[in-house]
Amino acid sequence: MAQYDFDLFVVGGGSGGVRAARLAAGLGKRVAIAEEYRFGGTCVIRGCVPKKLFVYASQFPEHFADAAGYGFAVPEIGFDWPTLVAAKDREIDRLEGLYRKGLETAGATLLHERAVLVDRHTLRVGDRRVTARHILLAVGARPNPHAALPGHEHCIFSNEVFDLERLPGSIAILGGGYIAVEFANIFHGLGVETTLIYRGKEILGRFDMDMRRGLHEAMEAKGIAVRCHEILLGIDRRADGRLDAHTSGGDRLTVDQVLLAIGRIPNTEGLGLEAAGVETGLHGEVVVDDHSRTSVDNIWAVGDVTNRVQLTPVAIHEAMCFVETAFKDNPTPVDHDTIATAVFSQPEIGTVGLSEEEAARRYDRLEVFRAGFRPMRHTLSGRQERMVMKLIVDADTRVVVGAHVLGPDAGEMAQLLGVALKARLTKEDFDRTMAIHPTAAEELVTMYQPSYRIERGERVEKAA
Ligand code: NDP
Repeated sequence: MAQYDFDLFVVGGGSGGVRAARLAAGLGKRVAIAEEYRFGGTCVIRGCVPKKLFVYASQFPEHFADAAGYGFAVPEIGFDWPTLVAAKDREIDRLEGLYRKGLETAGATLLHERAVLVDRHTLRVGDRRVTARHILLAVGARPNPHAALPGHEHCIFSNEVFDLERLPGSIAILGGGYIAVEFANIFHGLGVETTLIYRGKEILGRFDMDMRRGLHEAMEAKGIAVRCHEILLGIDRRADGRLDAHTSGGDRLTVDQVLLAIGRIPNTEGLGLEAAGVETGLHGEVVVDDHSRTSVDNIWAVGDVTNRVQLTPVAIHEAMCFVETAFKDNPTPVDHDTIATAVFSQPEIGTVGLSEEEAARRYDRLEVFRAGFRPMRHTLSGRQERMVMKLIVDADTRVVVGAHVLGPDAGEMAQLLGVALKARLTKEDFDRTMAIHPTAAEELVTMYQPSYRIERGERVEKAA
């Protein structure tokens, strides 16, 4: 019976791999999971979790400043970067321990080594060979090194940014996606002179333009320099150790650090994919079908290595579908439709469904409900930052096809809006939902009149 050493061998101990290993082991399957670095993967070790902790840290200076409007005498504040890094490390150690414990309790075998495919059922782990009936590739992705950029070796990436010895005095960040925007806000919040350099016309491509513009303006109002339509041409190390970053606009920015955040590439090199006959795509990603099965029918892949949607909850969902399909005789395709997401900038963006621009391409007639206002907590603080909320409604079916929030706690709101949009609720369902007063989110259920309509791609100002 035991033709193979394991029923499942998981390569990679990140969000997707750990979930699959834990669930399959919990079903009584013989499971091994190999991780060459630390259990928890990008999300826990050098992604979502430490990032969010740094976001919280970077918000305190604004909170302290706002407290004055509420009657507090705010003393001079100090900040110690090594204290934050050490506290973050302790929390990550704790979480990594929980990940390991969950695997061990479920009965999985943990291997702290790199595993490489030898053939469709065999892996080399250290100096021994192991066989498995099913193999799951969950090896994630890594920052694009931008090797074409002269001086890229002087730059840092999201991997190193959490462990810098010193908080830089100034930083230039290349990119206009999640990581670039979130770190521009983190560094600025911690008092670093920050410049964001983005090649496109507006940061955060694919998000709703109102959110993109609103955030851009808020960032500039805080003092972050946001330079669109520009790229970096090269980086030089100066004699004093600082960096000269040369921009396509003809400027030379002298900064302490340059962070490159221009996307992530799948970790498929040296994994033995060719030996096993696993097909890869244009960007090196493992090609899978909608059940996460690769071109070899006992080898599967989930998470960032497949380059579908690079988000932790998506990897976890894919892993759960994989276990249903491979071990519970319940073929379950992954569902990538209507994924709520947040950018943990300051202010935050929370969004689910279609942007106005995308909805206008897909639907003939739309109604757009939009509210822009100063959140109540800023009335006494004196902060001028405004909140924007937007619902995009298909005028024919009345279904809300997009919901977007810019402002405090937007990510929390988007999570719940995600339920409403996933359930394909109509604008009338929103309208008959009682508001909670006073909250900012009540605006989402009290926008009774459309702000404008869109007919066949054309904006019509007056609601009929
Ligand atoms: P993104 O795909 O979000 O953004 C990449 C950015 O780099 C884009 O603005 C892109 O521009 C720009 N870019 C790409 N190539 C170049 C180049 N050669 N020169 C200059 N600019 C370039 O990737 P990130 O690295 O920010 O994040 C990786 C992934 O991690 C994200 O896709 C996201 O899925 C995940 N993530 C999620 C977070 C969250 O959920 N809050 C937080 C952090 C990461 P253009 O738009 O023109 O293509």
